[in-house]
Amino acid sequence: MIEQRTTTIWITGDQCSHANSALLDCDQDKTTVLMIESIARARQRPYHKHKLVLIYSVMRHFAAELTELGWHVDYYAERQDFESALSEHIDRYRPTNFRMMHQSEYGVTERMTAALEGLPCTVTPHCQFISSAADFESLHKGEYSRVTMENFYRKMRVKTGLLVDGREPVGGAWNFDKENRNPPGSVHNFEAPLKSPADDTTAAVIDMVNKHFPEHVGVVSRESWHLAVTRRDALAEAADFFDRRLDQFGPYQDAMLSGQVSMNHSMLSAYINTGLLHPLELARDAEQRYLDGTARLSSVEGFIRQLIGWREFIWRIYWRLMPEYRKRNGLKATNRLPAFFWSGDTDMFCLREALTHVREHAYSHHILRLMVLGNFSLLAGLQPEEVNDWFWAMYIDGYDWVMVPNVIGMVLHADGGYVGTKPYAASANYINKMSDYCKKCVYNPKLTTGKGACPFNALYWDFLDRNQDSFKTNHRMQMSYANLRRKSDIEVQKIREQARAYIKAMAAGDRL
Ligand SMILES: Cc1cc2nc3c(=O)[nH]c(=O)nc-3n(C[C@H](O)[C@H](O)[C@H](O)COP(=O)(O)OP(=O)(O)OC[C@H]3O[C@@H](n4cnc5c(N)ncnc54)[C@H](O)[C@@H]3O)c2cc1C
Ligand code: SF4
Repeated sequence: MIEQRTTTIWITGDQCSHANSALLDCDQDKTTVLMIESIARARQRPYHKHKLVLIYSVMRHFAAELTELGWHVDYYAERQDFESALSEHIDRYRPTNFRMMHQSEYGVTERMTAALEGLPCTVTPHCQFISSAADFESLHKGEYSRVTMENFYRKMRVKTGLLVDGREPVGGAWNFDKENRNPPGSVHNFEAPLKSPADDTTAAVIDMVNKHFPEHVGVVSRESWHLAVTRRDALAEAADFFDRRLDQFGPYQDAMLSGQVSMNHSMLSAYINTGLLHPLELARDAEQRYLDGTARLSSVEGFIRQLIGWREFIWRIYWRLMPEYRKRNGLKATNRLPAFFWSGDTDMFCLREALTHVREHAYSHHILRLMVLGNFSLLAGLQPEEVNDWFWAMYIDGYDWVMVPNVIGMVLHADGGYVGTKPYAASANYINKMSDYCKKCVYNPKLTTGKGACPFNALYWDFLDRNQDSFKTNHRMQMSYANLRRKSDIEVQKIREQARAYIKAMAAGDRL
């Protein structure tokens, strides 16, 4: 009976977890679960169609699962905006109070609770992270000090008991990063991840997304859909990763090969970020594979480091430094995002490959994000907020909390070195070593200036040259600056001119 349902639990698309803390300790007979699909929200950015399909389909499946479990769900499909659906819900159910789990994006909890027509709302803690603010804050030595990922990660290892023996790391080291950087060499037999085909619910969502958002990036059809939209299917994909690919995850974590989208990466981030999977359960499953002897320690540690180290570190930085963090532009980068980021139309093989992965799958693995797209954005001096917005719209796993520290901090070093003490800046040499891309490219990775020179090279040296004031006291950059100093004045002048020519060409919308 509607009138008996005094509490409404509002659940958003990135909170579709059965462990959602707002659901805990609630009387099902007195509670309604409210879920709203807002077309206006999805139009705020040109979100990739795959991302929209994933979120709406996850929501619809989650609502069905809750109903099966005895919850009364009031679901508003395909609504113009949140406000009209919310007001309809309040008119119909007349709840006396709301509950919701804290939102992952800064300021949204406050905006949502303010929209509740004066009704009280209990906000419960976010359930999809492992660390507490105290875990992070206790490592700070003062208001302006910074915490390294490595220190935070060690604390998380001890807190969770993962790969530790007492307080000591299993295998004698906390970090096997050095074993995680093999170039692909002749290893080309990366196994494809398990696929989860579309059911009728996902097919209906695909039609809906194609109807409302035809101009958004991406092509989506029932036939080509392969992502999980339920916890059951996401667990099956995770188990398949642990069975067939985890052991090889470590050695080739940084490697790139043309035509290979996932390599040995898990492709689980979209499921974790919508709540289908919990990072701790995945980390424990990975540890079990090491204990069983089915996956090597360097791979298991590498995977656990991403989940309980990097992911938690990024989350904590976001909440410590927002809201001003998003606006940071420490290197005063002002160049506009080139048109080819949207079209993929470039001769630079590595960029074209990364952009193709993103356009086709709303995904590329970490090194393509960091050392190809991110590195190029850093070297070319692209505006941080514009780069951030592009990543956020294009990636299936993109949310404000994870984009801002990764893009503003890790990639663009616009935060003054909070996420990383040294910028991830590299010339073509790195890409050539870690991939087969340069062999297929019209540009020459060995040339810095002149016809056919790889744009990464002049842009790299020009980046160092124009940012000397920011990095001259950074001891981790001394080797790079020593190499720059070895270049003659004429060489440096040529580099500057070549770099300016690339920037001008991009501004004019020309192809690189
Ligand atoms: C420019 C840039 C943008 C990024 N944007 C996002 C994003 O929008 N959403 C997102 O979840 N991750 C983002 N990352 C982090 C990382 O690249 C992705 O989590 C990872 O590539 C997802 O693919 P996977 O599941 O195959 O990861 P795997 O390589 O298999 O790693 C396992 C898991 O570790 C976690 N993880 C690893 N690194 C990070 C990190 N730096 N930050 C947060 N989680 C991490 C993810 O949950 C991931 O699923 C970004 C990184 C960069 C450099
Ligand atoms: S030569 Fe330069 S542009 Fe071409 S693939 Fe290599 S790094 Fe990329």
